[in-house]
Amino acid sequence: MTDPLAADALVIGGGLSGTLVATILAGKGLYTIILDSGISRSDGPGRHLSRDPRLRFGTEAHGQWVGAALSALPQGPDNLGHGQIRVGLTRGGASVLWTGILHHLDTPTEEARSFARTSLEPWYDQAGVLLRAGGGGGPSVGGFQPLAMAGMAGAALDGGTVTDPLSLLSDQGSPRISCLWSHVATRLRCRSSRVLGVEAIDLSTGQKVSLSAEHVILANDPLRGPALLQASGIGREAGFPVGAYLADHPLAIARVAVQTDRARELHAALWRPGRIPRAARLSDAPEGIHALALVPPGPAEAPTLHLYWYLTGHPWEDNTVDASGADPEGLGLFQARVSLRRPVAEATAEEALLAHLKETVETLGPPLPGWRPRLYPLGTAAHPFGTLRAGAPGSGVTDPEGRVHGFDNLWVLGTARFPGPNAANPMFAVASAALGSATALADPSSRPLTAPGSGPASYP
Ligand SMILES: Cc1cc2nc3c(=O)[nH]c(=O)nc-3n(C[C@H](O)[C@H](O)[C@H](O)COP(=O)(O)OP(=O)(O)OC[C@H]3O[C@@H](n4cnc5c(N)ncnc54)[C@H](O)[C@@H]3O)c2cc1C
Repeated sequence: MTDPLAADALVIGGGLSGTLVATILAGKGLYTIILDSGISRSDGPGRHLSRDPRLRFGTEAHGQWVGAALSALPQGPDNLGHGQIRVGLTRGGASVLWTGILHHLDTPTEEARSFARTSLEPWYDQAGVLLRAGGGGGPSVGGFQPLAMAGMAGAALDGGTVTDPLSLLSDQGSPRISCLWSHVATRLRCRSSRVLGVEAIDLSTGQKVSLSAEHVILANDPLRGPALLQASGIGREAGFPVGAYLADHPLAIARVAVQTDRARELHAALWRPGRIPRAARLSDAPEGIHALALVPPGPAEAPTLHLYWYLTGHPWEDNTVDASGADPEGLGLFQARVSLRRPVAEATAEEALLAHLKETVETLGPPLPGWRPRLYPLGTAAHPFGTLRAGAPGSGVTDPEGRVHGFDNLWVLGTARFPGPNAANPMFAVASAALGSATALADPSSRPLTAPGSGPASYP
């Protein structure tokens, strides 16, 4: 099939999920189109087209739009609260911002463990190969265990350069992949149990484009994925919890100047001049807390440690994203409503998270000015999940491999599929789930390339 508007596989979203699945499908001979509304490759690694923070990250907290560094947040009380948050639907994706921490998804319930066993674990090692994982597995320093990392294109990691979604595509350089950057998918065209194609708008010209495909793969994140399905008439009334179970994990952050012996030791173990950030996990953190220290690249004379404490967030059915009928501009479903009716974690657990971070900072400290331990608002952790969850028909939207129930050619990738509570950095699980879906779609009888345990690094 060579018609530029008719694909064997049409992938909506060119982040990590979308580029991985496209790479694999094209490698198996399928002509694959990727649509992405918000990234550009014109000046090196992927970047957002827009400098408008509403379009770049789309989290509004206390009346301000918050970017990746969270620095726009006001200097407020320890607990910034959850009441004033609005999560817009961004045009750019999370993958251009990743730090590269490769960590298994945490799986505290039987449902989540079952998902991990079927959809993630068989693929972790192969994902590590593709992401050129490095580091990790070294000695613990002050209770912090170094983690395996991937990272941004062009940066160096022990043993070679690391990768990102767009360099994955250029590495493979397949003539079977066609990329439509700056195109936003606005609706799926369906007939009974099949998706026939996708309506899109070319944001650079305003022209409408109609594409057809044998398979359509949603790789466009837990907010815009369900929004696109709802806008296409595939919603809760069809018997799926599309857009329900939205969760993110509460996050507490502190940054410390490296002045104490313990901080110096940890920094020295992780810092590599001119290299990507490196991270370590506090191995004896209390249950439910995923505690990370990150060493950013920076001047040797002012070294810092960044501390990110994530608390397990629970996906409740009545926390939702709802986009039905809310796309007045026709450009990317920006005005979907997010309703968080239930807290994703108990207030007491959030207090315990903050108290534990404060204790840690006391042993590492002092905190940098403006960066004392604080709990950040929901939405800023940037790891939303759950809205197109894997599960049995009725309680789930997809099967374990990502195929939407009731459809034979519609697939979902990314954190939207995670069905259980989560506190871990999700990117490694995202990559693994994409590999499983690609294999199920193209070649159901094949197995992962590497046997579990034989990957290039050890992953916690
Ligand atoms: C600041 C930040 C730091 C992070 N750090 C880490 C980390 O250290 N470790 C870790 O494991 N994870 C981290 N994450 C999370 C990780 O980046 C994501 O889980 C992962 O990249 C998700 O990949 P994805 O391909 O599923 O989605 P995305 O990367 O979000 O890609 C979705 C793509 O879909 C496109 N899109 C959306 N809607 C449409 C539409 N209608 N039409 C066309 N295109 C559309 C978007 O433009 C986007 O490019 C971080 C996230 C953020 C925001």
